[in-house]
Amino acid sequence: MKKIIPFVIYLVLPFLVYPQGKIHTPKYCLFYDNHTMPAIPDVGENFDVEAFTDRIKACGVDYLTFHARCNLGMAYYDTKIGIKHPSLKYDLFGQLADACNRKGIALTAYLNGGISSAEGLKHREWTTLYFDGREYREPRFTPYVRTMCYNTAYRDHLIAMVEEIARNYPVSGFFIDCLQNFPCVCPVCVKEMKEKGIDWNNLNEVTKFSEFSALRLAEDIYKAATKINPNLLIYHNNPGYEEQSKFSTYFEVECLPAGAWGYEYLPVLSHYLRTLGDYPVLNMTGRFYDWGDFGGLRPGEAIKSELLYGLANGMRP
Ligand SMILES: [Zn+2]
Repeated sequence: MKKIIPFVIYLVLPFLVYPQGKIHTPKYCLFYDNHTMPAIPDVGENFDVEAFTDRIKACGVDYLTFHARCNLGMAYYDTKIGIKHPSLKYDLFGQLADACNRKGIALTAYLNGGISSAEGLKHREWTTLYFDGREYREPRFTPYVRTMCYNTAYRDHLIAMVEEIARNYPVSGFFIDCLQNFPCVCPVCVKEMKEKGIDWNNLNEVTKFSEFSALRLAEDIYKAATKINPNLLIYHNNPGYEEQSKFSTYFEVECLPAGAWGYEYLPVLSHYLRTLGDYPVLNMTGRFYDWGDFGGLRPGEAIKSELLYGLANGMRP
């Protein structure tokens, strides 16, 4: 009997710790890229979680990516670590997670890894520092004006938010956006570059170091999240696909042809990703000419053409 009890605990424990039974295979996906200024006075006030999830379920959506923390640094869930949007009066992400869980929709938490304006304002030592000593970047009228250093205490903060969400909500994955190689010569980065023999006066070398730092953070996010739930879909936007393939469990191809991506991006990426192994691959198309292009729609014919092309090449719409 003494031997049997620990054996039973050993069998049952994984099911208690890990809420998701198996990794979700996305079929029809929706991606919400919402970033809300702190001054907006009524965030979520008229958001009907049940009507919203009923509607997307009726559309056949089985996979939803929704912002848990946006690039303005605002959190949309009850966080003990981050900055909840000041006008949001309830746990929006939490209610959504509950409804999705009940209705069989896999929910992935969006967090912006490279930009977090409000957190950068609160912790100026977390932001990147450019060669001329500026914390601000150009152009200033975009969310890129304040970018985050992957080697400061910001990295622990971001990982802690991922852990907080993985523990407290029935999420199926994480989408970490904007892990771009922003060159940084802050004291933390310079110290490590000196130790590694990297010329921190050379833009190319500093940019390469930033790429290395972004990948290291991506790997640590993967390790922290999968320790809590080994069946998560995890993808980091911007680092190379091959480079992150050991610590991502699916790929998304952000491919917005009317923007900087162009129309040649989808054919090349759809073929290339087939060479990397058996990963679920999502084709994320949409309209994005530039920041602030709110509510714009693309012609149905264009969307159909891109989604069908992707589908024929193994990318889910
Ligand atoms: Zn730095």
